[in-house]
Amino acid sequence: MKIQSTYPINDEVVNDLKKILEEYTIIESVEIHENDPSKKIYLGEKDNRTCRFCQKKHPQTSFKNVSHTVPEFLSNKSLLSYYECDVCNNYFSMFDSEFARILLPFNTFSSTKNKKNKTPKFNNGLEIFEDVNSIINIKNLPDNIIGDPNNIEFELETPTYIPNYVYRSLIKMGISVIGNDKINNYRSEIAWLMSLTSDTITESSMIFSLFPFARPTNKIRCIVLERKVNVSRNIPKTLMSLSYKNFSFQTFFPLHISENFETFFPHPHILPTPLDLYEELKDEKKMSLINLDGKIKEKGEEFKFSIKSI
Ligand SMILES: [Zn+2]
Repeated sequence: MKIQSTYPINDEVVNDLKKILEEYTIIESVEIHENDPSKKIYLGEKDNRTCRFCQKKHPQTSFKNVSHTVPEFLSNKSLLSYYECDVCNNYFSMFDSEFARILLPFNTFSSTKNKKNKTPKFNNGLEIFEDVNSIINIKNLPDNIIGDPNNIEFELETPTYIPNYVYRSLIKMGISVIGNDKINNYRSEIAWLMSLTSDTITESSMIFSLFPFARPTNKIRCIVLERKVNVSRNIPKTLMSLSYKNFSFQTFFPLHISENFETFFPHPHILPTPLDLYEELKDEKKMSLINLDGKIKEKGEEFKFSIKSI
């Protein structure tokens, strides 16, 4: 595979992509311009709506809320859904708010605009935002900063979060973008999502990748991949990846009870993001595997941040 590009391409990633496509087909790929309410796109049809999650129609349920395929706190103001009723929308907000908690320091640092079109504030009042002249403003820096004002380093802890809800928030996004022609193949995953007491038969986890020094992208992207029929090794039927700014998340849909989960590979491939393709950034990437099995609030993760003036 040769790629024509105006910037140096990381060949390793191109080879990885080839290997992924031997085992998976990309069934959905959506791209959303961040924080752009001007061109709204709705999935589904406005008239005769049926909620794809609870399968109810009007008047058994209502469709008054604006439902977002990818949550609004990730700066999605434009890719919306007619497939989600108000009751389900309200239920999913419980999961999305936990995902927002684990992402709080990242969204603060990357000036990701939330529902109110503001950069979220950290609990100690720390606020970082880019003004109209593209200058980064910092308010209420913590007292425990190290070093000189031109090279600030400090640690922040994400608020407590429920790992299982973070997983559910990701899977809900994946299910939201799947085309209506394929959605009935996902009824068992939807049944799992709709019941808080249902468990997954394998541990759930996500790979979180971070490109700290890259220029952030202004596109939110979500892709869903399905395993090809002739694949013999035990890998997930469905993979998904979400990326925005300098961050990406990869996970797999819950396994069906009929799947063989012995010697199971939950993350058979690392799905590349557009930032991975950029040769000069290949050493900058940091990855961590986060277990998402816990059903009660867990202590937040600690992250080190540094701000350099250039
Ligand atoms: Zn519903």
